[in-house]
Amino acid sequence: MSRLFRAYGEMCANHPWEVIVAVVTLTTCFLTLEKQVTSPKKPPVCVGCYEEPFQAADMVLMTVIRCLAILYSYHQFRHLQNIGSKYILGIAGLFVVFSSFVFTSTLLNILNVDLVDLKDALFFFLLLIDLSKAATLAQFALTASNTEEISKQIARGMSVLGPSLTLDTIVETLVIGVGTLSGVRRLEMLSYFACVSAIVNYVIFMTFYPACLSLMFELAKISNFYGENQHLVKKKLLEENDKGNPALQRVKLIMSFGLLVVHVHSRWSVNEDFKSSINNNKEAVNCSDDTTFYGFVMKQFVISADHIVILILLLTLMVKFIFFESKDHLKEQLEHDVLLEIKRDIQKKKHIRTTSINAEAQTEGFSPEVFEFEDGVNDRDTDVPRSLQLCLEIYRTEEGAKDLADKEIMMLVDTKHIPAYNLEKAVRNPERGVKIRRKILANQMKLNAAFINMPYKNYDYGKIIGACCENVVGYVPVPLGVAGPLLLDDRLYYIPMATTEGCLVASTNRGCRALEKTGIKSRIVSDGMTRGPVVRFPSITRASEATVWLKHEENFKKIKDRFDSTSRFARLTKLSTHIAGRYLFIRFIAQTGDAMGMNMISKGTELALTCIQTHFDDMEILSLSGNVCTDKKSAAINWLEGRGKSVVCEATIPSNIVHSVLKSSTAALVDLNISKNLVGSAMAGSIGGFNAHAANIVTAIFIATGQDAAQNVASSNCITLMEPCGEKGDDLLISCTMPSIEIGTVGGGTVLPAQTACLDMLGVKGPHMENPGANAKQLAKIVCGAVLAGELSLMAALASGHLVKSHLKYNRSYSAKDTPMEMSIACRT
Ligand code: NAP
Repeated sequence: MSRLFRAYGEMCANHPWEVIVAVVTLTTCFLTLEKQVTSPKKPPVCVGCYEEPFQAADMVLMTVIRCLAILYSYHQFRHLQNIGSKYILGIAGLFVVFSSFVFTSTLLNILNVDLVDLKDALFFFLLLIDLSKAATLAQFALTASNTEEISKQIARGMSVLGPSLTLDTIVETLVIGVGTLSGVRRLEMLSYFACVSAIVNYVIFMTFYPACLSLMFELAKISNFYGENQHLVKKKLLEENDKGNPALQRVKLIMSFGLLVVHVHSRWSVNEDFKSSINNNKEAVNCSDDTTFYGFVMKQFVISADHIVILILLLTLMVKFIFFESKDHLKEQLEHDVLLEIKRDIQKKKHIRTTSINAEAQTEGFSPEVFEFEDGVNDRDTDVPRSLQLCLEIYRTEEGAKDLADKEIMMLVDTKHIPAYNLEKAVRNPERGVKIRRKILANQMKLNAAFINMPYKNYDYGKIIGACCENVVGYVPVPLGVAGPLLLDDRLYYIPMATTEGCLVASTNRGCRALEKTGIKSRIVSDGMTRGPVVRFPSITRASEATVWLKHEENFKKIKDRFDSTSRFARLTKLSTHIAGRYLFIRFIAQTGDAMGMNMISKGTELALTCIQTHFDDMEILSLSGNVCTDKKSAAINWLEGRGKSVVCEATIPSNIVHSVLKSSTAALVDLNISKNLVGSAMAGSIGGFNAHAANIVTAIFIATGQDAAQNVASSNCITLMEPCGEKGDDLLISCTMPSIEIGTVGGGTVLPAQTACLDMLGVKGPHMENPGANAKQLAKIVCGAVLAGELSLMAALASGHLVKSHLKYNRSYSAKDTPMEMSIACRT
């Protein structure tokens, strides 16, 4: 049945013009024909005239019925307003008016009923019609996501509504039809009226209405009316119309059959009675009114009272509907449904999540914990954001802003309900958070193009949030090259270097080649990260007393105990004090295992200061960092006393290699090293800059391995020394001394995937399991060794005059035909 109705509905919706013209033409022909045939023959029938001359009680009863009909219609409109919209209301209203018109005209023509008494029939008609079915079909049509889909959706609606409506109409007609057998003339006439009304209603609903809907929506180009909520409305419509109770349907069918039998039997037997009663009716057309004065006054009064009551009721309801009913019912209803749906969804997901976490916990022995973020990107977006209030309500649920569209989240950021820095957490999805931040920024900057070439997808943001970066809008890909192998302490290393400076990797690579036979020897000479807080005393006397107090071994022990208690790896090794008037700078020096250690040492220092304060309660802590540390600033203290890992590297290059690979001579290199790296840097007043380009190699490796790139300042401190050696004195002895390499293999950016991969290339990923600190030290040695290779190559290039040539050729934007490989070869030679 459903399929049949669907096909029929699709036919009506696909050929709206044909259906409308056919219905209108047929109706017009029918009306005209009936008028010509019936008018002259049939005398007018007066429904009211079947009654006794006048009865006040009857009038009161009819008034009550009329009021009920009006109230029922009002209730229907209220219901329509709740489920529909102005479109649905308009469409359903038009439909009702039209079907009433057709029905009334038809009835008038068939029965030749007196218009004066039709008013009662019309009230019955109001009680009969069901606007909700018309509204539901309109709703189905409105769920179409594009205009092509409208007829499909109407057909779908017809398939859902058609069977039940057909059955209902049959039952309704048969039940009301019983009234036509009652023998009470007024009731009989009204029942006929009601039966015809039900049938006309049905015919119009099944033909004219779907065609009108389809035509109207297509002409008005109404599609995707419910936007985001479309799937919800569809679901709700199907759910609601699927509620049909099969048992009830069966009862209806049986009832129809029974009633049909009763009708057939009764009509057979009462046919004659009916004919005679019609004749009686014809005679009653000219019935007399009540002629007494009292009767006349009473009748006028009751008729007027009847009109007054109905008028007041109508006016009251109109005023209530227009001024006091919320016009946002549909929206509120939908929003309420959406919220409910989301809450149900949350409960469901929560249940699934708890089950899976518990299962995981059971199998792996972990304690269950709530996931911070979920995988996958909820990329929902909508043209029409929901109201701020609803968005806020959704945001405040357990799922946060996860189920809101981007525009809705941007609205919450704009209204300061979500802090822009907290987007990742709010949407429970780091990548989506980043995406939305980019959108906000692009809007603010009015510059979308800025983000086109800035990637943000496929990045493990979970690792950087709260650890490496804030307000993330993407990532900047930096090219990564490899130099090597570098033979260091009898092991070969391939050095990852992230840089945008052409020639750098190639040059370092050449240095590695020059060292591939003899290799480099390296040593760590000291290891100690530093933090130098500044404290102030009331006088220089107190500051001096504190200086002396700190130098005592037992006091140091007390402070160390406190410091070491803050970490499993940070170990305080020394305190150095630097007094300036009543200011005291205490430099805490500690080993920090495989971590670079700045956070660790800061934590330890903070606690250790409280220990000192228990002995010097007049000590004022001005800052945890007093710049004597010294972090990320050029300072002689790091150069002289060291910071982080202090490393020395040395290598001997036979003269033949100096000639063949470096295209230079030992004498030229030694001479250049003295004049440039020693005298030149001294002339420049350099601190720790007695080298050619240590910072180049340090920074490239730092970026590749996730170090704090700003620490290249002290980490690049280096003195490169060269001297002739060997039997003939033409071999080259080169050393690099780097006293302050601030480096680690755990913490900071070392945990990021690509950076971890680079550390893995070097065999120093993460913490060293047996000997904490060994990985960081090894990495420091590798850096120093690579610096030595870089120094060798650049000094050779300078000595032989190749530098400018190769840089001009390869460090400027090279043409497409020049490949990095060609460039590398050129630099090697
Ligand atoms: P961190 O990640 O803050 O601390 C290292 C963590 O790793 C500690 O929790 C430590 O355990 C743990 N760990 C596990 N195995 C280890 C091992 N074998 N050796 C050492 N630690 C191990 O790293 P951090 O090096 O102290 O700080 C680096 C970050 O500080 C970088 O992001 C850098 O940019 C930043 N930074 C901070 C400052 C500052 O003033 N705070 C200055 C410059 C840079 P425990 O908990 O037991 O110690």
